[in-house]
Amino acid sequence: MKQDFYVVLGVQRDANETDIKKAYRKLAMECHPDRNNGDKSAEEKFKLVSEAYEVLRDPEKRAAYDRYGMAGVGRGQGGGGGGGFSSMHIDLSEALMVFMRDFGIAGGAGGGFESLFGGGPRRDRRRGHDIKVGLKLTLAEVATGTTKTVRIKSLESCPECAGTGAEPGTQPVQCGTCGGSGEVRRQAQSLFGQFLTISPCPTCAGEGTVVSSPCHRCGGEGRVKGEKTIQIDVPAGVADHHYLTLRGQGVPGPRNGPRGDLIAVLDIKEDPRFERHGDDLVHDLGITFTQAALGAEVQVPTPFGQTTLRVEAGTQTGMAYRLRSKGLPRLGEGGHGDLHVRIHVWTPTKLTAEQRKLLEQLSEVEDAPPEKESGKFWDTIRRALGHL
Ligand SMILES: [Zn+2]
Ligand SMILES: [Zn+2]
Repeated sequence: MKQDFYVVLGVQRDANETDIKKAYRKLAMECHPDRNNGDKSAEEKFKLVSEAYEVLRDPEKRAAYDRYGMAGVGRGQGGGGGGGFSSMHIDLSEALMVFMRDFGIAGGAGGGFESLFGGGPRRDRRRGHDIKVGLKLTLAEVATGTTKTVRIKSLESCPECAGTGAEPGTQPVQCGTCGGSGEVRRQAQSLFGQFLTISPCPTCAGEGTVVSSPCHRCGGEGRVKGEKTIQIDVPAGVADHHYLTLRGQGVPGPRNGPRGDLIAVLDIKEDPRFERHGDDLVHDLGITFTQAALGAEVQVPTPFGQTTLRVEAGTQTGMAYRLRSKGLPRLGEGGHGDLHVRIHVWTPTKLTAEQRKLLEQLSEVEDAPPEKESGKFWDTIRRALGHL
């Protein structure tokens, strides 16, 4: 029985590059030697799928294979005896290289592979640092969301050499240590055969090139001191000490390496009018004895401006009114929390002669508060107090 590379990878003959890559990755992960304790049949399969992948991922080799079969890709049947094709044409270290090349960095191969390969990213440009900024917000800004402008002093890409680090008119040259690959490889022996350790090249820090005539402005770093202004959109409903991450807005890496992130840490100013409980707010409202007794319309603040509250006749200290959806926006959920208005009946401390006279008249006709044991009324008050 002949091995067919399409069958090996389990893909259709018209499979595209992505399908092939996916199929290979899945199979290679399953039979990777590092996951199979050096099991020989897994290793054979790993070599075979790697070889199939090497041929089918390359349009030229694939075309030749489609036309001429194994002979087209220089893999004759060795005597044509009709024996099964096996992957004797690719050795384990080559197969491991294939896997590393395409999946060693971003493949998410898992801890095992990293320990095996040293985890060194290949030809990796050094990433710049993150920048942290504090962002002061008022509760009103939290309520509506806002855009803040911040000025940041840090390193910026060198305008003289466009971040390359090479003196204008010159080019970075290939690194002599690694030959431009950005990595150094060492072969090592393990239980299941040879494997390669790969680490970033110490000379070029993984970049593959070195600067022979450094830029006079940045000294070859590709970065100079600079300042920039960034607008940060703050969504409504954020909380204190939340942070917003702006990907790629941090410091550029040396010599055009990827930028770090900008991290804005939120610092929300206390608003003396409100106590914040998540998306809900509590406001303490003082009303007069007559407003409590007769009922009244009063103005209460919300983070969005004033609103009118109808205080019912007979309102007691400790009762709370809930104004639905007058609290803060729920971050990422839509809708708003509530505003709770906690009532405090204010007892006057200084009386005019007229006020005293009226109150004395009232005292002659007013009723006493209900007895404690008359239950229900005081329960309601107690519940209202306990709630907030
Ligand atoms: Zn420069
Ligand atoms: Zn190098």
